[in-house]
Amino acid sequence: MAYQTINPYTNETVKEYPEATDQQLEEALQNGHELYHTFKTQDIKERAEQLRQIAANIRERSTELARTCTIEMGKLLAEAEGEVELCAVIADWYADNAEELLKPEEIETGANGKAEVHYQSTGVIMMVEPWNFPYYQIMRVFAPNFMVGNPMILKHASNTPSTAQLMADVISEAGAPKGSLTNLFLNYDQVSKAIADPRVQGVALTGSERSGSTVAKTAGEHLKKSTLELGGMDPFIVLDGANMDEVADIAWRSRLYNCGQECTSSKRFIVMENMYDEFVERLKDNFSKVKPGDPLDEATTLAPMNTKKAKEKLQEQVDEAIKAGAHVVYGNEPIDLPGQFFMPTILTDVDRDNPAHTTELFGPVAVVYKVSTEEEAIKLANDSSYGLGGTVFAGDSEHGAEVAEKIETGMVFVNNIRYSLPELPFGGVKRSGYGRELSKLGQMAFVNEKLIMKA
Ligand code: NAP
Repeated sequence: MAYQTINPYTNETVKEYPEATDQQLEEALQNGHELYHTFKTQDIKERAEQLRQIAANIRERSTELARTCTIEMGKLLAEAEGEVELCAVIADWYADNAEELLKPEEIETGANGKAEVHYQSTGVIMMVEPWNFPYYQIMRVFAPNFMVGNPMILKHASNTPSTAQLMADVISEAGAPKGSLTNLFLNYDQVSKAIADPRVQGVALTGSERSGSTVAKTAGEHLKKSTLELGGMDPFIVLDGANMDEVADIAWRSRLYNCGQECTSSKRFIVMENMYDEFVERLKDNFSKVKPGDPLDEATTLAPMNTKKAKEKLQEQVDEAIKAGAHVVYGNEPIDLPGQFFMPTILTDVDRDNPAHTTELFGPVAVVYKVSTEEEAIKLANDSSYGLGGTVFAGDSEHGAEVAEKIETGMVFVNNIRYSLPELPFGGVKRSGYGRELSKLGQMAFVNEKLIMKA
C-alpha cells in the first residue's frame, strides 16, 4: 500500500490506506465545483464563522491531533502541539481579516471613469503537501482559499495519511460544507488528471524541487496557475558585534527544530573568523546536550527522522561530504535506539565542489563556514541555487537589516530566531519556488483580480 502510517520511533506499521479510486476523484471534483458556485452566493461572513469554528475544534482536539502527528512522522510532542496551535491561529487570522483583504480596491484614472479591482474566487484548487509540518501546510492553503470561496482537494504525503485525514475530518466536523477540503489518497497520475481537469483552476505544492518541477510542468501544460514552496539551504550569518549568547542559543535550535527537517532550517552557518572557534564550540556543546528517545516523552529533545529512507539518504549525503573533504567536528555516530535517529552532526571545511555545499541536507546536520569579511559572508550566502529564508546576526538590527537587503532569499530574520505567523508572507525565490503563502499575498494566490471599469 502506498499510503502508510509507520511510527518512526517504534518502526511499527500502524495503519495502511488504500489508494483513492478514479470514481472518488471524480466525486471530489464535482462536489468542489458545485460548492464553488454555492460559495459565490454566500456571504463571506458565514465562512468566517465556520473558519472560527474550525479553529475552536482544532484547539478542542489538539491532544489527539498532536499525538497522531508525533506517532506518524516522529516530531517531538511539544513541537506537534505548537504546530496544531499555529493552525488555529492561522484559521482565526483569516476569519478575522479575509473580508478586509478581499475588499474591492479603487484605481485613480482621472477623467476616464471609476475603476475597481474586485477579488473573486476562481474554482477548485489542488493542494499537494509534504509530511514535515503535516497540519500547518494544509492550513496555510486551506484558510485563505476557503475564505475567498475556492474549494480544495488535498493530496498529502504517503507517510502522513492519518494526519491528513484527521485534519480533513476536523474541518468537516466543524461545519465546513462538503467539498471544502477533500482529502484523497491519490497517486501521481491522478494528481496530474486533477490538475488537467477544467474544474480545477490551480495547484499549490510544498515539497522538493523534483515534485515541484513535475507538478508545475503539468500545470503549465494545462495553463493552470501554480505556487511552489520548495527546498532551502538557508544561511545563518554571524557578523562582528553579534551577541554570542543569543547566537549560540538560537543556532542549535534553528538547526535541530523538527529534527532539522524543515525547509527554513538554518543549514549553512557563515561566521566571521574572530567568532568562529567560539561558535563551533558552543554549537557542539548544545548539540551534545540533546536527548534522543520517544518523541511522546516530554524529556526527549531529539526526535527520530520521519522515515528509514530519509535517514539513509542523509547518511549517504554525509558520507559523500566526508569523501569530498568535509571534516566532522561533532556527531555522525550511530544512536543505539531502534527508531530512525540521526546524531546531530557538524561539518566544516566544505568547499564549493563538495555536494554538501550545494545539496539540501534535510536532517540534523549543520555546515559551518569561516569568513573574514562581511562581503565574503554575503557572497557565500548567495552562492546557492536556493533562495528561501535566512538569518542575520549583527551588532545592531539596523545594520543586520542592511545586510538582509543583500541576501537573495524570500525571507530574512535579523537578530532573532525565524518563525511563522499568519500575517507574514512565506516563500522563496530561485529554486526554492515562487508565490507566497500566508498574509495578504497568500490570500491573493488563487483569486481572480477582476477589473470593473465604470464610465
Ligand atoms: P516531496 O517528495 O516533493 O513530496 C511532497 C509532496 O509531493 C508529497 O505529497 C508527495 O507525495 C508529492 N509528490 C511527489 N512527487 C509527485 C508527483 N510527481 N506528482 C504529484 N505529487 C508528487 O517532498 P519531501 O522530500 O517529502 O519533502 C521535503 C521537501 O519539501 C524538502 O525539500 C523541503 O525543503 C521542502 N519543503 C518546503 C517547504 C516550503 O514552504 N518552502 C516547507 C516544507 C518542506 P508522496 O509522498 O506520495 O511521494
